[in-house]
Amino acid sequence: MVDIKWDELGFSYIKTPYRFIAHWKNGAWDEGELIEDNILHIHEGSPALHYGQQCFEGLKAYRRKDGQINLFRPDQNSQRMNRSARRLLMPMVPEELFLKGVHETVKANEAYVPPYGSGATLYLRPLLIGVGENIGVHPASEYIFLVFCTPVGAYFKGGLAPTNFIVSEYDRAAPQGTGAAKVGGNYAASLLPGAEAQERNFSDCIYLDPETHTKIEEVGSANFFGITAANEFITPKSPSILPSITKFSLLYLAENRLGMKVLEGDCPIADLNRFTEAGACGTAAVISPIGGIQYGDTFHVFYSETEVGPVTHRLYDELTGIQFGDIAAPPGWIQTVTP
Ligand SMILES: *Cc1c(COP(=O)(O)O)cnc(C)c1O
Repeated sequence: MVDIKWDELGFSYIKTPYRFIAHWKNGAWDEGELIEDNILHIHEGSPALHYGQQCFEGLKAYRRKDGQINLFRPDQNSQRMNRSARRLLMPMVPEELFLKGVHETVKANEAYVPPYGSGATLYLRPLLIGVGENIGVHPASEYIFLVFCTPVGAYFKGGLAPTNFIVSEYDRAAPQGTGAAKVGGNYAASLLPGAEAQERNFSDCIYLDPETHTKIEEVGSANFFGITAANEFITPKSPSILPSITKFSLLYLAENRLGMKVLEGDCPIADLNRFTEAGACGTAAVISPIGGIQYGDTFHVFYSETEVGPVTHRLYDELTGIQFGDIAAPPGWIQTVTP
């Protein structure tokens, strides 16, 4: 293993030796290969640069106690990348090619998969970008599928400690736009609202539904969930939310492992009192408890501004226990990379 202070890792780029690259040209993908160069050479007219024709994924590799490496539901990332690709008129990446890219990248950079118990993981970033000579608003003539990786620590500083959020007046996506696709354009639109939230000392902002601005949709770049006193796990449903794999996993675990009632439905911003706990979830964020939400002039505290609630804590233990291989996973959730 390389010499890195695993406990001090944040969420920033550290160069690893290998990345996987495949090219689409004349209607077909090549078989892809591992390369060492971390600089892409692409045409100045590439549609990814001008018109945002690109999408990406995010998933992690987890070191188990026995030294082997787990991937958490990478087939779901592959399927979601293809849904994003379809929305932006990009070619599908066959699941076989996607998984080959992910597995080979982890294997080649095995020395960078943080040790079990450090809390750190190897973050994988698959990308699909439209490249090649172009100037008009057209889909690209060529595409690159890339997978690179970097070791990361906790996403929100403080780990499982709650942080506060502020409701934004901006929208991150349009009602029938690209909110459900994991595309860079959504993120470009979120930079200013995120920066304004951080200027006011909030972790990030909360986006309401773009149609009525009355219901919670997203927490920064994570999905929202709330817990009620009636032992319910509730998460918003909307066509402009990014369908989080972590969220769907928590819906399953809350119901089948914690015996909770689960539902996807409206989470009105005017009715935060119904939740005894609330959190943000995603691959990078894992589960981040929400201390309080600022909405206009009012600040609403859920469980506590300083302590994580018991149900959120149990969900976190169940999810991360499965990811790191300490708790039995539901069928098909874990793929093992043997170094
Ligand atoms: C990626 C992402 C999430 C989290 O999805 P996971 O599959 O759980 O990692 C949530 N919201 C947005 C906007 C995202 O881009």
